[in-house]
Amino acid sequence: MVAFKNYVAGEWVDSSQAIVNRNPADLADVVGEYARGDKALVGRSVAAAQAAVGKWSQATPQERADALDRIGTELLARRDELGKLLTREEGKIVADGVGEVARAGAIFKFFAGEAVRLGGEKVPSVRFGVEVEIAREPVGVVGIITPWNFPIAIPAWKIAPALAYGNCVVFKPAELVPGSAWALTEIIAHSGLPAGAFNLVMGSGAEIGDTICGAAGIDAISFTGSTAVGAIVRRAVTERGARVQLEMGGKNPLVVLDDADLPNAVGCAINGAYFQTGQRCTASSRLIVTAGVHDRFVAALVERLQKLAVGPGLDPASEMGPVVSEAQLAQDQRYLAIGRDEGARLAFGGERLNRPAQGYYMAPALFTDTHNAMRINREEIFGPVASVQKVNDFDTALETANDTEYGLSSGICTRSLKYASAFKRHSRAGMVTVNLPTAGVDYHVPFGGRKNSSYGPREQGAYAREFYTAVKTSYILPI
Ligand code: ADP
Repeated sequence: MVAFKNYVAGEWVDSSQAIVNRNPADLADVVGEYARGDKALVGRSVAAAQAAVGKWSQATPQERADALDRIGTELLARRDELGKLLTREEGKIVADGVGEVARAGAIFKFFAGEAVRLGGEKVPSVRFGVEVEIAREPVGVVGIITPWNFPIAIPAWKIAPALAYGNCVVFKPAELVPGSAWALTEIIAHSGLPAGAFNLVMGSGAEIGDTICGAAGIDAISFTGSTAVGAIVRRAVTERGARVQLEMGGKNPLVVLDDADLPNAVGCAINGAYFQTGQRCTASSRLIVTAGVHDRFVAALVERLQKLAVGPGLDPASEMGPVVSEAQLAQDQRYLAIGRDEGARLAFGGERLNRPAQGYYMAPALFTDTHNAMRINREEIFGPVASVQKVNDFDTALETANDTEYGLSSGICTRSLKYASAFKRHSRAGMVTVNLPTAGVDYHVPFGGRKNSSYGPREQGAYAREFYTAVKTSYILPI
């Protein structure tokens, strides 16, 4: 018997196997035991979702909007409680946990509106007397596979559009963060959806995720996670001819030019590289700085890093929580060694930190004297590790920023309209910021990248309809 069960076909389903959810800020704190699903349960949830498609896709837009609005309202009302839960399982500071739950609530409310706004087009035919209509219909059953770094916002920005446009869902959250996923499911479960329209199956990627990708009854998969797993998911899903949308890694640049507002540039770097422990796919781990401001920028950044309070996310004084897991901490530490071996200078931090409770704490790390061919500048570390590269001018900064296999977000700090505008135009990234951190974007506009960062249509905002709806063109000759 586990306390937190899977949810399939409108029923809570127990399991003899549990996922033990631990607080990375205090390993003695067990957040809860969550049911581990198996392949058979995926099969049952796919069948339940298929059976519910008829009912949910034919619900009126108002009924769908009302259900999503109820979910959004409850998330917003319970943001403090669920934000604390999120912090306990993922580690980010509680202000970010609460903010993330509020964002999830806002997303459901946005898509409640989208459910009634979804329209089609009527266009003139090239043939006499014929009427042409373009309509959008649900795709069917959507499999949703999510990572641990945004345990409620990422599920929300996939589940909300899936449901808004009339699809049914099989949802598999990351193993490290079942708590937020379960809480969201519990809210969805009493929002008035037909049984089977939404299903939760918790468990490992290799078993549950892989089975979802291969399930013939699943029409589309939306995945966010690592580039390596994204490639596996893409292969499995495209092979059987289903739709797939992937959001993966980043190695995002923040360019700082000589004419930047220095305190603002340092703030952008601290936020973009270290907040949320650097565990954001939009984190700016490459700081590309022109020579005239380089030394002053590094000095000011180190001074700010010395003051950055690392501690448990539930302590309101903490600015940065622990690393999420032992494996991630080991990866971060491995990259520190790689950087040193490559000849980079560790200008600050990187050491493991002791706090009253045992957890995965480490000091934010900054490398200087790096160049863009180094592995620390090419591979996503996904931790509180950033590196500075000194360049001579804007053109070299832009070239260096674009010299990466990734293209999720990019930023520039400058007071020059000319350079800001040129960067916006020539940056090969899906999202560009000027005098703002590369991470922490709005929820109602498209999110996504280029190159190896993303695959398929954009997520979020009205653009989400491209993935979650199928287009139908109808011709009528009224006789
Ligand atoms: P992260 O470490 O950021 O969570 P991963 O790519 O490891 O990124 O995992 C993202 C999601 O993909 C998780 O829910 C994970 O369980 C799932 N996953 C892992 N391996 C597979 C796989 N082979 N097939 C499908 N999903 C997988």
